[in-house]
Amino acid sequence: MAELLYGKEIAEKIKNSLKQQITNLKDKYDCVPALCAVQVGENPASSVYLRAQQKNADNLGINYKLHTLDAGIDEKKLIDFILNLNADDKVNGIILQLPLPASLDAKKIISFFDPIKDVEGMHPENLGKIILDKAHLAPCTACAAIEILNSTGIDFYGKEAVVVGHSEIVGKPLALMLLNKFATTTVCHIATGERGLLQKHVETAEILIVAVGKANLISGSWVREGAIVVDIGINRLGDKLVGDVEFDGAQKKAAYITPVPGGVGPVTVAILMRNLVEAAKLQLFKRDGKRKR
Ligand code: NAD
Repeated sequence: MAELLYGKEIAEKIKNSLKQQITNLKDKYDCVPALCAVQVGENPASSVYLRAQQKNADNLGINYKLHTLDAGIDEKKLIDFILNLNADDKVNGIILQLPLPASLDAKKIISFFDPIKDVEGMHPENLGKIILDKAHLAPCTACAAIEILNSTGIDFYGKEAVVVGHSEIVGKPLALMLLNKFATTTVCHIATGERGLLQKHVETAEILIVAVGKANLISGSWVREGAIVVDIGINRLGDKLVGDVEFDGAQKKAAYITPVPGGVGPVTVAILMRNLVEAAKLQLFKRDGKRKR
């Protein structure tokens, strides 16, 4: 029977390590890290994530502000809003809540972020740095999956890793992170599923990470004996939240598995806070570097 990988414990460790760093930033540099979330229109789907951001920020002594902009805002005005946050020394991190209304192109808007304020690691410069294994700010959920795997003490070198899902925010950066750790990495996506080859790949996985958004897409019987399973998917099934992996079956075969909910989600928010602290440090470093010149 698999051991459950509860995100809360891992998240607490990350946040405890941030507390001292936040105190140092305050005491030595008079810097209280500040996070700005930008939401365009009201979106009930984001409310859980927003509440978690606010709560985690409050607990860590981080300044948090949510800006809710008019749903009809045009692209230029939204970009100007972002440029103002870039220019504001009191703002260390910016988050753009997704999805945006259909008239706005999220990738284009994010490309206007100052990369050292991009705490969700979605700016092209930050995504590109993952290839070089030099990312300071990387997508939070992908980092969360790596933290969870690290918590098992696994040695990634040469392990068969299978990532199901190839989104720009989760699957693709995660696959690069696994490659950087020398895992033999396979990425499956919709076309893999359509060709009926998903089971074949999943059965090889010593590390299985699934980020699709389809309840019980991965049958528990496909899971390799002794695998580590990180289920990122969140799906509503009746009044329950479930992942992408059929939990009961997978738990019988895996060595470790994340529950849904209570697995990846809390770690993602802790990584967001870690990225904010990192961003604040990068900005101080840049500012002090300029002063010395
Ligand atoms: P997305 O919709 O951008 O991408 C889905 C991916 O799944 C695509 O790569 C697609 O090709 C693949 N896919 C679709 N059908 C498939 C099939 N039948 N077989 C194989 N692959 C298939 O989604 P996303 O933003 O990456 O999110 C994925 C899931 O993770 C969602 O449920 C989302 O809610 C969840 N999520 C959780 C967290 C967290 O912190 N826990 C964070 C982000 C996303």
